Amino acid sequence: MGSQLEADLGDHSGAHRARAEYCRQRLPELCLLERLLNKGAGIVRSRVLAELADGDQHLPLYALELGSDNPDLPVLILCGGIHGIERIGTQLLLAELGTLIYRFRWDKSLQHRLSQMRLLILPMINPVGMARGWRSNGNGVDLMRNAPIDADLPHPWPICGHRLGRWLPWYRGKTQAPMQAEAQQLCRYIQEQTARAPFILSLDCHSGFGMRDRIWFPYAGRHQLMEHAAELHAMIRLFERAHPHHTYLFEPQFHHYCSHGDLWDYLYREHLKQHSSVFLPLTLEMGSWLWVKKNLSQITSYTGLFNPTVPHRQRRTLRRHYLLLDFLISAVSSWQNWMPDRPGHARHQRYAERRWLKREHRA
Ligand SMILES: [Zn+2]
Repeated sequence: MGSQLEADLGDHSGAHRARAEYCRQRLPELCLLERLLNKGAGIVRSRVLAELADGDQHLPLYALELGSDNPDLPVLILCGGIHGIERIGTQLLLAELGTLIYRFRWDKSLQHRLSQMRLLILPMINPVGMARGWRSNGNGVDLMRNAPIDADLPHPWPICGHRLGRWLPWYRGKTQAPMQAEAQQLCRYIQEQTARAPFILSLDCHSGFGMRDRIWFPYAGRHQLMEHAAELHAMIRLFERAHPHHTYLFEPQFHHYCSHGDLWDYLYREHLKQHSSVFLPLTLEMGSWLWVKKNLSQITSYTGLFNPTVPHRQRRTLRRHYLLLDFLISAVSSWQNWMPDRPGHARHQRYAERRWLKREHRA
């Protein structure tokens, strides 16, 4: 063997070892994701939307696709890890991915449901932030405050997003600057993939707010119900009727704060400008204060404020949302069976306004 080739191979295996060590210490979720992609060969299609640099490591932003590849079918989008510190969202989606891969081989009903729809999973949108244990991305920008959209009545400051600088969390980035690479790629990918879909549902997994698990929906930046509130109410009613003992609290995000730059507000508004199809962008906020309450030592750890640190509680969290994710797959694959007709639409709109608009918000 020539000495140059030996040197090249040596470099290669050295780089490979360095990456394996980096992932083991800082980003075990990426090792797990890549192992699952190997296991899911033939079931999961994957692509890398961007390579994001952390020192000399280049971390992939993966987009995974399962089910049909017909662009005219409805789409379910599952996202996680936009805030790097909220690792539990990524871990939840990787647990779901494992379940889907192992069930798909034998479960005819899952095969059938996935043949009627497209399932897109972006489990780790901010890998540099996750490797560093940050909420923001590698440039110090909060990706959930980074879209080019301003809130009507932003509050409270600075949680609503600000432009002071990256030293303070919730930084939006510079005025007029393009969106960060992660946010740009996410938006471009979702817009491309959903252009022809007749129905779109998304769930973006976060943690860190309150004692209960909440499902939030637009708007985050204005005191107004989303235009598809009737369709959303119809779907939530299905879930509540089928699973009356569920523990989720469904509510619009503006009940809690009114923030600039929310990516889902932005994607939703752009969608309304161009398409007539129904789009329901949901956010799962896993109630992390419950984990803190049960294990007070977590309060001294930044990671512990956003993630369950006791193993049995982490396992319980990963189990806890299986029902919801399975319901979302069924709701998308069978969407035509429950979408309200014209009188049903008017009825659900009234229910939605009664349930989610406080008197001062009603027209
Ligand atoms: Zn978050």
